[in-house]
Amino acid sequence: MDPVDTPVQYLKGVGPKRAGLFQQLGIHTVEDLLYYFPWRYEDRSRIERISDLPLLTAPSDDRMHTLQAKVSVTRVVITPKKGLRIFEAIVDDGTGLFLIKWFNQPFLKDLIHTGDEMILCGPIKRDPYAARLQPRFVTYMENPHYEVMADNQEALHTGRVVPIYHETRGLSSKQIRTLIWDLIRSVELSEYLPDWILQSYHLPPLREALASVHFPGPDSDLATLQEMKTRAHKRFAYEDFFLLALGLAIRKRNTHQVTKKIRWRERPDNTVTASADPHGARDTLLVEPFLSQLPFSLTRAQTRVFDEIQHDMDSPHPMNRLLQGDVGCGKTIIALMAMLRVLENGYQAALMVPTEILAEQHYLNVKGYVTALGVPCWLLTGRMKSSERQVVAASLEGGQVGIVIGTQALLTETVSFRQLGLVVIDEQHKFGVLQRAALKAKGEAPIDTLVMTATPIPRTLSMTLYGDLDISVIDELPPGRLPVSCRHFRESDRWEAYRWLQEELKKGRQGYVVFPLVEESEKLDLKAATEMSVLLAKQIYPEYSVGLLHGRMKREEKASTMAAFKKNEIQVLVATTVIEVGVDVPNATAMIVEHAERFGLAQLHQLRGRVGRGGSAAVCFLVTGRWMTPEAWKRMEAMVKTSDGFKIAEDDLEIRGPGEFLGTRQSGLPGFRVANLLRDVKILEVARRDALRTIEEDPTLSRLEHRRLRQMLETRWQHGLELGTV
Ligand code: ADP
Ligand code: MG
Repeated sequence: MDPVDTPVQYLKGVGPKRAGLFQQLGIHTVEDLLYYFPWRYEDRSRIERISDLPLLTAPSDDRMHTLQAKVSVTRVVITPKKGLRIFEAIVDDGTGLFLIKWFNQPFLKDLIHTGDEMILCGPIKRDPYAARLQPRFVTYMENPHYEVMADNQEALHTGRVVPIYHETRGLSSKQIRTLIWDLIRSVELSEYLPDWILQSYHLPPLREALASVHFPGPDSDLATLQEMKTRAHKRFAYEDFFLLALGLAIRKRNTHQVTKKIRWRERPDNTVTASADPHGARDTLLVEPFLSQLPFSLTRAQTRVFDEIQHDMDSPHPMNRLLQGDVGCGKTIIALMAMLRVLENGYQAALMVPTEILAEQHYLNVKGYVTALGVPCWLLTGRMKSSERQVVAASLEGGQVGIVIGTQALLTETVSFRQLGLVVIDEQHKFGVLQRAALKAKGEAPIDTLVMTATPIPRTLSMTLYGDLDISVIDELPPGRLPVSCRHFRESDRWEAYRWLQEELKKGRQGYVVFPLVEESEKLDLKAATEMSVLLAKQIYPEYSVGLLHGRMKREEKASTMAAFKKNEIQVLVATTVIEVGVDVPNATAMIVEHAERFGLAQLHQLRGRVGRGGSAAVCFLVTGRWMTPEAWKRMEAMVKTSDGFKIAEDDLEIRGPGEFLGTRQSGLPGFRVANLLRDVKILEVARRDALRTIEEDPTLSRLEHRRLRQMLETRWQHGLELGTV
């Protein structure tokens, strides 16, 4: 039997019904079961003598005690008032007698008999009424874990450090434990980690590691076990990372091997041959004129990253690049240049973003840049009238060369491209793998792809998560940006924040007052924002003009409000989070974030990035409501402490934990069984290095010694790696 593809149902003692319960725990195969690790351990190994047990104990004392004793007598008692059935046993260990009670488990009478040798583990309770009747049994052990010992049997559920598993109704930790115990003894388990790896890190081989994670030996240290830091745990953490890194490396290698259908014409500095193209390729260049009309020059980092992109595009293999950079570092312009490059060749380019407002912002910006170049630019979002959408779709289908910017609406079936040459995805972490793939599928695969993110991810993490992408980082802000200083005010001090904003207004600056808007309470929130804008306009800043911007407004309204703010006809803009991304008004130097406790750290950081763009110092005030969770406190502290996006990301990761931070559900990567991105960073680095080395030496893992490894990899990646058959 190969555990990898044997369903649990074929195990002795597991029928279809239990198999269903296992499925609820995510266990389908025998291998899943073997890798279903305990989430904690209980030390039931210190066996006490009955004569040493406390005679009096506080009623609330839940400390566990372990006994090994023989059953002297048993009975089932039914309590007179409530009719509770209690199974009682008196046990004897040679030093004394002790009373054991199990409530509501009368069936135990068939399992536990006089003369049985047992290990019992449970808390000791005191029966206030017993004192009168049976002074000897004032204390008793309540509902203990128990195990009836057969001759020479190794104790499993008690008398040792016992593994505790997550249970589901109808499937207890004890049942899971028994199955795994038998399994480890019977199943064939062949090692798949290469020998040199086990040897260099002194990692235990598979069977030994499984045995000691599930059933740690008598000398194991409970604390190390609980922290999952034993050698065996480390082996599995290593394995998680190693298999992930291997898979990503293989994926990357695969994309670097396929050849793309479209080849871009050579750049002017390498001799131009502007061929006449049936699809209306331009003889004119676009990137250079675009650059010459920019009111600023690119930062060094921007230039370097564009070179990297250009290099990918010139290569015969498809580009698969992640562009990372803090809010405001100027990613859009780089993406736009890449798109223009595609247009020069007579192809279309698409930019997909997660929200309507961001799409509109990008659209307005891009349009501003490219209209002078004679490049058509379209917006496509779900909120547009279907007739409007049809016009855009017709242009795309007809093969008109231009840039389309849109939301998920781009993915609908009615949108098709005649000549899609480049896909750009902004805020890529907001999209799932499938959505990204769906957009790429609108071109002729494999197609050049650029994904962008402003959520700076700690380096180790990005290497892990994006190990199949090439990564470019814009690690420099345009000149003249000053860090935004940030302060936190409690609700009761909010007036202080208003006063500070006023100071900025007096200097001729503008400011934002941001309200969170969450779907569940959208109406209330909107009301709060609206009322606040009235209050601010009438009472607090009567001498200034106050505007309101929220997602429910019509597109034209939003556009005109934004335009007025840009022109400084509005000084204070009250907005829901719609301004989170994309909005760009250099004269705005102050921001008040209301109910800041309701925003995530990344979101707060993005918001803050809206001010301080004009070369003068800017301020951000976080106002929090009366109730704050400890996490919210930590977020405020992180914001006040630093304005470095990478530092913020690290704090965010720490506060939220890796699962939520990464949105692993969306990532499409195999999950970890043991590994924890925070706890095991060191292991991650080593495993990644080893994976790269392994792939370098045996790119398709076809060597004999890698046969099992390859099989394991296929299983973990659910055959999504296209390893091919050998
Ligand atoms: P993000 O990386 O957050 O998407 P954007 O591309 O929106 O950043 O750029 C933020 C702002 O900085 C925009 O107004 C853009 O015009 C401006 N910008 C971009 N690059 C430069 C540069 N090299 N010098 C000055 N301003 C720049
Ligand atoms: Mg951006």
